[in-house]
Amino acid sequence: MALLTGTERPTPGVLEVITGPMFSGKSEELIRRLKRARIARQRVGCFKPDIDLRYHRTAIASHSEQTHEAAVVTPDAERLRELLFADGLVDAIEVVGLDEVQFFDEAIVPLSLELVGLGKRVILAGLDTTFANEPFGPVPALMALADRVTKLNAVCMVCGQPAIHTQRLGQSRELVVVGAAGLYEARCRAHFQPYVEEPAEQMELPKVLAHA
Ligand code: ADP
Ligand code: MG
Repeated sequence: MALLTGTERPTPGVLEVITGPMFSGKSEELIRRLKRARIARQRVGCFKPDIDLRYHRTAIASHSEQTHEAAVVTPDAERLRELLFADGLVDAIEVVGLDEVQFFDEAIVPLSLELVGLGKRVILAGLDTTFANEPFGPVPALMALADRVTKLNAVCMVCGQPAIHTQRLGQSRELVVVGAAGLYEARCRAHFQPYVEEPAEQMELPKVLAHA
């Protein structure tokens, strides 16, 4: 329960961001923090987007098979806000956990800050960059505004050094291809090759140039 100050405003909460490439242990770390919060008898609400249904429909899961129960939501911050504020759910939660936050729209940033303003501990886990090595969705802004950022490394699958990149192995052009085994692996700077769109077809040379 948030303490009230003399001005009747709740004591501010805290915004924690856990980020890094795939396989870096973001979900593990989120699950660890949520379990510890529950040991401390804090009321935890955990959410994940319905894009990521890899292992469980009612839980977040790590690649190391640790789980924590979670409500599956559409990655739409306004819808999540409606869910939280409907029926006073937000009043019943002290800690809000959210995995795969990179899939949410930018409105997740003000929603997170609103929850912090209400005294909540908000713990967000998500990828910092895409397979093309571009900052991923709202994560950069969340990192900038967080009280605490934990940037994790994975292990490079080529050389074993710390890995900060997510390498896409296949040729899929979709931005969101979730976790299918063998599609992604962790890579260090030296062994990462950003995915680039290949031209759809080889362009035919204009005749003038072709004969030049
Ligand atoms: P994330 O949520 O960041 O994708 P997870 O928490 O789901 O990561 O999984 C982390 C676990 O994945 C590690 O503890 C380890 O057991 C396993 N793992 C598999 N491949 C790798 C790798 N290349 N680097 C680090 N951990 C890996
Ligand atoms: Mg994860």
